Amino acid sequence: MPEKFDCIVVGAGPAGIACAYELAKAGVKVLLLERGEYPGSKNVMGGVLYRQMMEDVIPEFYKDAPVERPIVEQRFMMMDKESAITFGYKGLEWAREPYNNFTVLRAKFDQWFAGKAVEQGALLINETVVLSCIVENGKVVGVQTDRPDGQLYADVVVLADGVNSLLAKSLGFHKEFKPDEVALATMEILKLDKKVIEDRFNLEEGQGCTIELFGDATKGILGTGFLYTNKDTLSLGVGTLLSGMIKHKLKPHHLLDYVKNHPMVRPYVQGAEPQEYLAHLIPEGGYHSMPKVVGEGVLVVGDAAQLVNAIHREGSNMAMTSGRLAAAAIVEAKAAGDFSEAFLDRYRKELMAGFVGQDLKKYKDSTHHFDKFPQYFEQYIPMMNRAMSQMFTVDGTSKREKQKKIWRDLGSAKEKVKIARDMYRAWKVMK
Ligand code: FAD
Repeated sequence: MPEKFDCIVVGAGPAGIACAYELAKAGVKVLLLERGEYPGSKNVMGGVLYRQMMEDVIPEFYKDAPVERPIVEQRFMMMDKESAITFGYKGLEWAREPYNNFTVLRAKFDQWFAGKAVEQGALLINETVVLSCIVENGKVVGVQTDRPDGQLYADVVVLADGVNSLLAKSLGFHKEFKPDEVALATMEILKLDKKVIEDRFNLEEGQGCTIELFGDATKGILGTGFLYTNKDTLSLGVGTLLSGMIKHKLKPHHLLDYVKNHPMVRPYVQGAEPQEYLAHLIPEGGYHSMPKVVGEGVLVVGDAAQLVNAIHREGSNMAMTSGRLAAAAIVEAKAAGDFSEAFLDRYRKELMAGFVGQDLKKYKDSTHHFDKFPQYFEQYIPMMNRAMSQMFTVDGTSKREKQKKIWRDLGSAKEKVKIARDMYRAWKVMK
């Protein structure tokens, strides 16, 4: 008779580890299965870890965890080919406890986090691929792995297997994702001397900075680039919706080369040595793409449930929160001896009532809107750059004359009405 667990968690990313940690802490017999050589070995992230949601699982984790730098500044660049409008916020309150966010390298961080779950009593087995869920009488009762005699049983299974959750799909929880529901991101980790990083990004020792890159970073296609500071490396990446890549016949590594050599980015990364190259999908369909997240004896968390707020590049925080809430529902289900869909549905209710559900709802139409109307990235960002260039060029033209010229450059009355309508629409989908 194969061993039976209270719960099997598939996937040791932030969602699965948070879930396993909380379950083990509550005395639930939990098995965490990971296909990679170790947790984090297959995981990709730009690298911003949100302190609050991590502390909801492990208070003061940053005293022990392999975090890279506390982020004290967030910058944004609206880029054209040879210019950029730059803005952001720097606050030294973020350099002190309790901090705001941290950059992390997932290969190190996930390993540490999974170790903490193991310390609580979770059983972690790496290099094990879950091939399917075992379903009996309409209820998930375990998983089939790729190991010999690989059937494992549990009262409840948590699917934390990431963006392309084949397991959730095989249960009929979602269909194949469309190219406008997922982004493909590529990134490089670039080695650079610690002191050089601090000088280039205007940072005090140990502090960190993030820069989000819009507009020409993606050749005007809906998407973003990012440049984050780690201890002695930089994370540089770029991603667009798959639909954009297909439409513009773009190769992901070409886009990464393009952004790396962009004149607004090059000075930051010059001389840095590539250490790692990574590529991964990001679920960006938001609220409308969410699959069913609860079934008989099964819950879906993190990217597998499409929990990403693409506008604010938040994913790991939603993953950890969903993992924690799933664990809370399972602890209650165990006490009640009821792992039915109806009982476990409290997980979905809690998730949707909190910041995860609220933020996904708030931005539910944003990705589709900006995908449908490409002029925001293609035309308006270059237009804003030209206006700034004109306004700040001191050439003897009066400021009023400059304003008139900028206004004329917006085009005919009809074109101006179109811009005003687009701005209103953008406000509506973001408000
Ligand atoms: P994952 O981290 O993908 O973990 C899934 C795990 O399941 C993996 O370890 C995988 O190996 C394992 N697995 C999959 N299938 C199986 C199987 N069949 N059997 C066993 N194991 C399996 N989020 C942020 O918060 N901040 C950022 O700065 C940020 N930047 C990003 C940059 C990039 C380039 C990308 C791609 C994503 C970024 N995200 C960011 C999103 C964030 O990485 C994800 O939202 C988060 O990792 C989701 O966690 P997860 O645990 O749900 O899934």
